[in-house]
Amino acid sequence: MNQSQIDSLRNAPVEPFHHLIDGQSVPASDGETTTVVSPIDGAPLTTYARGTQADTEAAIAAARRAFDDGRWSDIAPTGRKKVLLKWADLIEAKALELAVLGVRENGTEIGMALKAEPLSAVATIRYYAEAIDKLNGEITPTDPAFLGLVHREPVGVVGAIVPWNFPLMIGAWKFAPALAAGCTMVLKPAETASLTLVRVAQLALEAGMPAGVFNVVTGEGPVVGAAIAASMDVDVLVFTGSGATGRRLLEAAARSNLKRVYLELGGKSPNIVFADAPNLDDAAKVSAMGIFRNSGQVCIAGSRILVERSVHAAFVEKLAAQAAAIKVGDPLDSATQAGAVNSERQLRQNLGFVAEAREAGRKVIGGDRILQETGGLYMSPAIVADARPEDRVFREEVFGPVVTVTPFDTEAEAIALANDTSYGLAAAVWTSNLSRAHRMVRKIRAGIVHVNTYGGSDLTVPLGGVKQSGNGHDKSLHAFDKYLDLKTAWVKL
Ligand code: NAD
Repeated sequence: MNQSQIDSLRNAPVEPFHHLIDGQSVPASDGETTTVVSPIDGAPLTTYARGTQADTEAAIAAARRAFDDGRWSDIAPTGRKKVLLKWADLIEAKALELAVLGVRENGTEIGMALKAEPLSAVATIRYYAEAIDKLNGEITPTDPAFLGLVHREPVGVVGAIVPWNFPLMIGAWKFAPALAAGCTMVLKPAETASLTLVRVAQLALEAGMPAGVFNVVTGEGPVVGAAIAASMDVDVLVFTGSGATGRRLLEAAARSNLKRVYLELGGKSPNIVFADAPNLDDAAKVSAMGIFRNSGQVCIAGSRILVERSVHAAFVEKLAAQAAAIKVGDPLDSATQAGAVNSERQLRQNLGFVAEAREAGRKVIGGDRILQETGGLYMSPAIVADARPEDRVFREEVFGPVVTVTPFDTEAEAIALANDTSYGLAAAVWTSNLSRAHRMVRKIRAGIVHVNTYGGSDLTVPLGGVKQSGNGHDKSLHAFDKYLDLKTAWVKL
């Protein structure tokens, strides 16, 4: 990736986007569109179809037909694998184009977007494509007069509702294992990150995926998302987003067909730095990126740093230096380390948390709106250096570049503070003491506990939350559990 390639794409005109339903690019049934406004400069980028309930039902019906007639699920796993691998190649060939389009829509810095969006989707599709012809069923150890077989079957029609921070990465964590498993899908992208998902779904058709297998309906959560959640024809619903929406989806499932619902929700992840951290500079540097990359709009962001009191002041100083060095600005400048905040609403929310901490007398470093000549939504990283457990900024997910730092005295206190949250998505511990590291991994209630690092785990390990961070897992072979059912054949010989 070089800057001139990015610059050649940054102002390219973007045609209006439609839904992809049953292999066809179709506008909304009532012709309505939504204007996409770029957070880079506040200028309109294009439009997409504003989906209706009827559009969503048409997509679900298409996915239902495609599943029931076996046009995809009855293809041998090696056949599906071939299509998926071709699809990954097509996405890879267009990676930069897709990354720039995504950045123009959601503001993520391009260096990260390229890796974390199209290229991550490519790797994810390849991983599940390669895995699907290596999953065996079971023959159980029964009385010899019987044969007990356990088949794995695709669950049927999967509905997916995804957020705006990493649409392709998070989208692929869901669509790649679901499609590899032989399911069909209706996916609803977030309102402020729709375009790349539509384009990627079009490439699936080009790769030979039959029409109706992968449908994308763009539009608003309470309309399109709600119609998916309420459908009697969606067998499984997978979601990444806020806890509030997650609750609505569970209610809708209970009121409709009891579809299984898997939720990946938010976090308020503790990042615990002991005085015996192997290298405090490294801890400060990695912790800064663990919260400030993509302007803090990362579900696993390490937003609550807990620091052993004896190194608290030194750590804050190092963290502040790291934060001040982060280059915030034009996300299409490849040197930028934190791009635009996704929306005005999100930016105002971030600044509100900072203002409240200041008013409460906390020491706040940074956290200002950055005005740029071009307009756009930018904010400098914020550190609340002496946050207390009762502070709202310590308790609630900001989903922005705002981190709290809180001192502790003992390991037991660190564990208590770490677990003093309704969330349980991620955590980290920095220590040279191996036994302490393993004790912390056991005691912290979170889906992932990093040791002497933050973020960057690969596809081979699962990602999922405990407590109010959700249920079920994306990534790893365990992701197949959501999309493959077990069926028993009990045969009297
Ligand atoms: P959100 O819940 O508002 O939106 C997520 C998706 O749900 C969007 O596609 C939206 O259109 C849809 N939606 C909204 N209302 C709906 C409704 N009534 N019915 C059906 N669908 C509806 O969340 P957001 O603001 O887009 O995303 C930020 C949140 O997502 C943060 O809280 C963040 O922590 C969480 N998140 C979690 C993870 C994770 O892996 N756990 C990853 C990224 C983001």
